[in-house]
Amino acid sequence: MFPRGNLYSTLLAGIAVAVAVAILGLAIRRFLVQPKWLGAVSRESGLIGLLIFLLMITYLAGLGITEDSVLGKTTWWAHTVALLVFGPLLPRSKHLHLVLSPLTVLLRHPGFGKIPPLVGDDDFGLDSGKDLTRLIALQAYSCVECGRCTEHCPPFNTGKLLNPKEVVLGVRTYLNDNGPASTEPLIGRHLSAEALFQCTTCGACEAECPVGIQHLPILVGLRRGQVNTGKWGNEYGARLFLNLERFGNPMGFGQSERQKYIDRISLPYYDGTQEYCLWLGCMGAYDLRGQRIVEDLVSILRHFAISFGVLRKERCTGDAARRLGNDYLFAELAQANIEHLVEVGVSKLLSICPHCVQTISEDWQELGARFEIVHHSQLLAKLVSHSSGSQSLPTAVFHDPCYLGRYRNVDEEPRRVIRQEARLVEAPASRRSSNCCGAGGGLVFLGEEPGRRMNVERARELVSTGASLLVTACPFCQTMFQDALLTGSASPPAIVDIAQLIRPTLVSKR
Ligand code: SF4
Ligand code: SF4
Repeated sequence: MFPRGNLYSTLLAGIAVAVAVAILGLAIRRFLVQPKWLGAVSRESGLIGLLIFLLMITYLAGLGITEDSVLGKTTWWAHTVALLVFGPLLPRSKHLHLVLSPLTVLLRHPGFGKIPPLVGDDDFGLDSGKDLTRLIALQAYSCVECGRCTEHCPPFNTGKLLNPKEVVLGVRTYLNDNGPASTEPLIGRHLSAEALFQCTTCGACEAECPVGIQHLPILVGLRRGQVNTGKWGNEYGARLFLNLERFGNPMGFGQSERQKYIDRISLPYYDGTQEYCLWLGCMGAYDLRGQRIVEDLVSILRHFAISFGVLRKERCTGDAARRLGNDYLFAELAQANIEHLVEVGVSKLLSICPHCVQTISEDWQELGARFEIVHHSQLLAKLVSHSSGSQSLPTAVFHDPCYLGRYRNVDEEPRRVIRQEARLVEAPASRRSSNCCGAGGGLVFLGEEPGRRMNVERARELVSTGASLLVTACPFCQTMFQDALLTGSASPPAIVDIAQLIRPTLVSKR
């Protein structure tokens, strides 16, 4: 029945076979296939792999031969020597992750993509070694160098400098070289400022990491270090911060433009009696495409007699300032908004922008705000009936915005809305594995990106499905794809927001 007649040995033998096969697979991938995103593989990695393989093979061989034979003794010694070499290597190599990674998973910050607040007035973010927290150090030493984060990083995949694995390893090498209390700047020999500011904060790295490393607090922490010490000299960034400070929106429009828009489509003001406070957001208030999405949503709300009102004063949520590392500006913007929302008695908000939804519901919490905010896809999903499934409907592909699908797990609601109007086809990367449009993390305001453009690459993936409609649920994504398709295919699909897609049907009903 079982070798040696007991369940324990059988289990162990099964595990040894599985590990040996896995190590063989790893060797083939790392030394023969060598995908680009894996980067250079160290000799140490090969040695450790060999030792693990040897341990497994000698264990398995030992099961079938007697210990007294020459072969038995050779196998025993080979197993023991491999173990003796392996033991001392462990704390000095990346294989420390065998011990540390369970701790990393256990101690990670709760919540996805959450940026921990600055601690006190002397916290300027991650500028030198003394600013690295124990958790960041633990995470840096837990990295197994699998490269999954890099494999899924849109800036890396479009030829940028950013490589999230190298960011984590850069922190580890810094600690090895300088120790944790060093005052040597983190940016320099080990990490590049240019790479940091190429991150869209899409969260793919964090979602893919098998050992629970949280890249965003590290990336944004390092950006904070650069911004707060005045080391980030970027013309676009400086203009963005100035616009946010002076005008309360990233584009630099006067508040009167928002007022004109509100008057033009006769939006009611929130007075405490309506169900929703409709948060226009900067795109909804100042951008022509965003305004059109708001108009379709408003028309649906009116048709279903869902009461709503907008604020007289609204400033940017601070999303871009926060993700670019300017926490002081973020706090100023958020605080002004929170005070006004409290003053007019708002408890429930509705927004067309996943970035506003995430910032208001998660980032504002550290300033004491607790508002319920609903993305319009969640409300629209409740208003649609079942899909007709008719073959005569056009085909549509949905682009999951990172801040909706990956950050908030809202991926079924927009699809429910689309199925009412179209036959849904899925993109090669979708839901929590969606590819970024390139706008997040404040990058949409930082001018032309170097190398291949992320919006063009993602648009190409979506167009490759052959769908006649490209459906979005974020005003930034819509803008990015409209720009991408201007330079792309000869007969591009029409781009619509879910509210624009469903409005004609919903408003003609009842
Ligand atoms: S958050 Fe996205 S863009 Fe930034 S490093 Fe991770 S995968 Fe790359
Ligand atoms: S996915 Fe995680 S473990 Fe793998 S290389 Fe990236 S940071 Fe390291």
